[in-house]
Amino acid sequence: MQTGDVYAALGSTPDGLSSTTARARRRSHGPNQLPPVAHRGVWRQFAAQFTDLFAIVLLLSSGITLLAHLLQDPPEVGTLQLAVAILCVVLLNATIGFAQEYSAERTTESLQAMVPHSSRVLRDGELLELPADDLVPGDVILLESGDAVPADCRLVEAHDVSVNNAAITGESDAVRRTHEADAPGALLEARNCLFMGSDVVTGTARAVVFATGESTEFGRIFRLTAAAPRQKTPLQHEIASMARRVAGVAVATGAVLFAVRLPEGQDLVSSFVFALGVMVALVPEGLPATLSVSLAIGVRRMAQKNALVKRLLAVEALGCTTVICTDKTGTLTQAEMTVLTVWADGALHAVTGVGYRPRGDVVDPHPVLPVLLAGALCSNARLVPPSDQDDWQVLGDTTEGALLVAAAKAGIDLKAQQAAHPRIAEFPFDSGRKMMSTVHEDGNGACQAYVKGAPQEVLARCAYIEWGGVVQPLTEDLRARVTATNDDLASQGLRVLAAARGSPLRAPFAQEKTESDLVFLGLVGMLDPPRPEVRAAVEACEQAGIRIVMATGDHPLTAEAVARRVGIVRRDEPLLMTGSQLDTLDDSSLERLLSTSRELLLCRVGPEHKMRAVKALQRRHEVVAVTGDGANDAPALKQADIGIAMGKEGTDVAREAAVMVLLDDSFASITTAVRLGRSVYRNIRKFLVYVFSSNIGELGPIVAATFAGFPLVPISAMQILAIDLGSDIMPALALGAEPPEPDVMERPPRSRHERLFSTAVMRRILFLGGIQALTGCAVFFWHINASGIPFADFTEDNPVYREAITMVQAGIVLSQFFIALAVRTEHDSVLRIGLLSNPWLLTAGCAGIGWMAAISYVPVLRSVFNTAPLSLTDWAVLACLGLLPLLADETRKAWLRRHHTRSRS
Ligand code: ATP
Repeated sequence: MQTGDVYAALGSTPDGLSSTTARARRRSHGPNQLPPVAHRGVWRQFAAQFTDLFAIVLLLSSGITLLAHLLQDPPEVGTLQLAVAILCVVLLNATIGFAQEYSAERTTESLQAMVPHSSRVLRDGELLELPADDLVPGDVILLESGDAVPADCRLVEAHDVSVNNAAITGESDAVRRTHEADAPGALLEARNCLFMGSDVVTGTARAVVFATGESTEFGRIFRLTAAAPRQKTPLQHEIASMARRVAGVAVATGAVLFAVRLPEGQDLVSSFVFALGVMVALVPEGLPATLSVSLAIGVRRMAQKNALVKRLLAVEALGCTTVICTDKTGTLTQAEMTVLTVWADGALHAVTGVGYRPRGDVVDPHPVLPVLLAGALCSNARLVPPSDQDDWQVLGDTTEGALLVAAAKAGIDLKAQQAAHPRIAEFPFDSGRKMMSTVHEDGNGACQAYVKGAPQEVLARCAYIEWGGVVQPLTEDLRARVTATNDDLASQGLRVLAAARGSPLRAPFAQEKTESDLVFLGLVGMLDPPRPEVRAAVEACEQAGIRIVMATGDHPLTAEAVARRVGIVRRDEPLLMTGSQLDTLDDSSLERLLSTSRELLLCRVGPEHKMRAVKALQRRHEVVAVTGDGANDAPALKQADIGIAMGKEGTDVAREAAVMVLLDDSFASITTAVRLGRSVYRNIRKFLVYVFSSNIGELGPIVAATFAGFPLVPISAMQILAIDLGSDIMPALALGAEPPEPDVMERPPRSRHERLFSTAVMRRILFLGGIQALTGCAVFFWHINASGIPFADFTEDNPVYREAITMVQAGIVLSQFFIALAVRTEHDSVLRIGLLSNPWLLTAGCAGIGWMAAISYVPVLRSVFNTAPLSLTDWAVLACLGLLPLLADETRKAWLRRHHTRSRS
């Protein structure tokens, strides 16, 4: 079928559909969406919680306790209560874990939906940017390199188009596509069709949609029924393996103490219940749930700050980032280009007016008209007039948009010129070639090429120059003048483009020929102001020990000027490396260069240079975050430890390859994400220290009692469960949601190899837990000894014993309250962040104390937990003892801070 027939066959026109037809078709065909990914069934997801190792250990314990109860003669209610309580623990834990997983999945989905997926569509002859969901059969769409093909479509115009069909055919090499008629054959093999799920690798195209949503080939092949596999991050793996080890230690310790007690004449069942208490004390029941909450909160906070994390892995890796390799345009700058000056006929002509509003003047416009006409014709952008919400906007590339605005300011009627010079061929812009050309009919039966691009590249292809309206040979002298002007404009931080015209041409057009022997027309200098927030973000990185390497396609002088403005470069002589200089270096010299130079700017680089730099940095054991927007940035984004794509200006391909998407494209959002990534890790450590120190506090008195020959436990399994699940879990969750500490960006990045349970963490657990255990032992034995009753005479219902175990339990709850405050900071005094700054933690802590009071005073609970009412003096003594870990930790932190300052000075 010829292209003309394609429109008719699909009920469309070269101007696209009318909006009325589009609405009607949308009603009959539905939205251009695939059915959502099926989730695991809710029950299966819930059942999976019981396969967790902690759950298995606890289920087994419950089963054995029940067996023990049945074997007892007479059976004791306490044993039955314990079996039921452990079962409740497992159920509660599974419910929390399930709720967390469920909400995390929903959060990920809703976050994914925040990444806009739009298409450029012709409707009523107007080019619009619409959500891809709105496409209907017959829509005429425009595609370019980096776009994901949004629906199945037939090409009607194709310039140098190649696509990657990996998602459909499994073949990952790019294949060329054309708009020409093809021999009949399998649809997926058709050379003039593009399919949903594939990506445009090179070129620009116009195509008519013939299938949308479930009717596309992609929809037909992939009925997405299977659940998407959920990958665990290294952190989750570490927690899982830690859980296995802790469970092993718990069982082993329980077994040893069981073995110690038996020869002392204790009966089998009570020794078993005792051992079980030890096991339960050691198993941190609420840990897996707390971990998921902490990660989910991190992801949500990052999204609120415009950093959308697609994989949890990125949250952890962000905290270890040592180098950020960043683009310039749009990331450090606003990507709001305004042409300030045009150089033609040897003179600079100022252009007034800012933004994309085509109001302003060009001083003495006559000589610059050919330059701006070439720029405007060789452009795919479109100016969108203001609407209620927005001022003038650019649809497409902002550099090209700025050229259109300048042309309009110079009095060029864009629509009339585009109609007078219809475009018949295009060699699209690519960041390797750094230029773009288009071929237009000149109205006399011949064709004319217009070229624009990086001045050096364009100049290298020019043989002539237009000077005062006359075409003359481009002498070395004139070349030097052009280069000097370019350098001058670039050193002012301007982005400079050159414009040129080709000689009259005839079809077929080959790129090489079209872009040779050109006539140089002039230079255009445009300003892209730095983003105001970037300077502070760069300083924060500096303080946080993160290096910034700028990698840009722009001129070295422009790059340096921008880098100075945002504070990336402060010294007199930063190292400026161009892509071609990089090509002359071997890998080891490159590595040396990257590790020795603090201020490094990679200029005039293409995506392959970025990729080399990332690999070299990684070989130096750096954790590299890389930004990218173009389709050919995808390999570097995948190679990086954290690939970061631009949400606004980035291509679909870059967004797919990245693990994080910046919704506002700003560098400052990367710094914020690093800050949050670091704090997520710290928060996980906080609740680990909190949870495990209480385990030691529970275990300490039990071990002491065993070796002291006391016949009963100083704290029962039921009481331990009441602590671990009743009063510990909420504060642990609140710790997982702590806001970042003030010093989180004042320390160097965490080593990637640093384990969660580092020596420092273990020491802190032993330190805080040790103090808690000692106070627990002191309270217990002081109370028991004060009664004067020999150890052997104590029975479970002895009131002194009941008081003593209540004191131990309440002591742990109170000291946990203070430990929760202590672990909120790693180095700073808690007073610096404010005792009241996490109201959730205080509320959770107070609720825990309230629960403890209920256990001590409410008769039903008293009989379940075998406790006794405590006096006010008891509470006061316990509160004072509970404060000890906090005071000791504050002293330790003060000492550490002094040590740190001294070693720094
Ligand atoms: P960054 O990687 O920091 O975003 P950049 O946007 O300047 O840098 P590229 O987009 O690769 O990098 O552009 C490289 C050079 O190509 C620019 O300096 C400019 O001279 C030229 N250029 C940019 N956009 C176009 C375009 N649409 N048409 C022709 N030439 C262009």
